[in-house]
Amino acid sequence: MVKPQSNSDSLIIGAGVNGLVTAEALLLRGAAVTVLERGAAGQESSWAGGGILSPLCPWDYPDAVTRLTARGAALFGAWATELHRATGIDPEYEPSGMLLLPPFDRQIAEQWCAAHQVNFAATDDGMLLPDVAQARNPRLMQALRARVEQLGGRIVERCAVQEIIAGRDTIHKLVTTCGEFGAERYIVTAGAWSKVLLGAHALSVDIKPIRGQMLLFKFDAPPLPHIVLQKDIYLIPRRDGHLLVGSTLEDAGFDKGTTGAAREMLLRRASALLPVLRDMPVIRQWAGLRPASPNNIPTIGRHPHLANLYINSGHFRYGVTMAPASAEILLNGISGAPQPFDVSPYRWA
Ligand SMILES: Cc1cc2nc3c(=O)[nH]c(=O)nc-3n(C[C@H](O)[C@H](O)[C@H](O)COP(=O)(O)OP(=O)(O)OC[C@H]3O[C@@H](n4cnc5c(N)ncnc54)[C@H](O)[C@@H]3O)c2cc1C
Repeated sequence: MVKPQSNSDSLIIGAGVNGLVTAEALLLRGAAVTVLERGAAGQESSWAGGGILSPLCPWDYPDAVTRLTARGAALFGAWATELHRATGIDPEYEPSGMLLLPPFDRQIAEQWCAAHQVNFAATDDGMLLPDVAQARNPRLMQALRARVEQLGGRIVERCAVQEIIAGRDTIHKLVTTCGEFGAERYIVTAGAWSKVLLGAHALSVDIKPIRGQMLLFKFDAPPLPHIVLQKDIYLIPRRDGHLLVGSTLEDAGFDKGTTGAAREMLLRRASALLPVLRDMPVIRQWAGLRPASPNNIPTIGRHPHLANLYINSGHFRYGVTMAPASAEILLNGISGAPQPFDVSPYRWA
């Protein structure tokens, strides 16, 4: 038998936000961690997203989603500040607030906010959620990568896991494009690719790619004081004058290409909200593949039969927001520590 290359306590498959936050949390508890990444770290969905740290209309989602996003959003500020301090890279965490424009059901929205202790203010043109924050994904991923390496984690890039070799009740090793790896514990954080990677071990995990396209503009200074949302279209002002416009929800398999139709639609809808965009160049268009799961509920925890296999994936539209809370829940599950709330909806069945 080929000797596995690594004797890390934990092998993590996929270096997106969920893989790297899980790695950071394990490293802070003294584990040895290796992260295997097929491409380059933090370049897939976690790079492509908007970094809004809230569901778009929280009242549209089940409690299993909003509890996790609320916990993630509550942990985010202190965590981002610590990442910045430790690495010198600023994830640009900003409590910029989010303005919702009609049409939306104001009564349902206000009742939900009141019942969930979420601050809101009625404005002339809509409803402001002043505590909604944002982070700048590419910076966040750079800081996170630096932090994992600073804590002694090993990130192996251009190393795709091809096969998971299992016995009756445990995983024995991983076969990859850069050799074989063995560890005490295996954690799947492969985003939209998680179900394909797991193959017959996936069981209840039902994750598929849903493409999202975005446009980027550049102003001299932020053209808006808040994130602006109308139905499923949003405008996100960054500190340096960049403005992101998103996004589409497309079932296009693993195709990450961009389309003229999406560009037209996003331009038309965004210009209706901010007319100056009509005369401005789109400086970039991109697409990312969200790890979509039913009802937007991720799977977090141990495999029902394979004692050393775990997953933290399927966060669909809110994987950045959920990341600190998902890692917390996974680690509590591994160590047997109490959970912050009922985590049974995320169980691997
Ligand atoms: C357009 C768009 C807008 C979004 N906006 C927001 C938002 O505003 N707020 C929010 O919270 N979320 C948002 N999201 C969702 C969020 O980005 C995702 O839920 C999150 O990034 C998922 O992170 P992840 O780590 O699970 O997956 P990913 O970032 O996709 O990482 C998975 C990694 O696994 C690697 N991998 C896959 N297979 C293998 C293999 N066999 N071997 C080794 N490595 C492998 C991949 O290369 C990849 O790097 C948005 C997403 C998109 C696309």
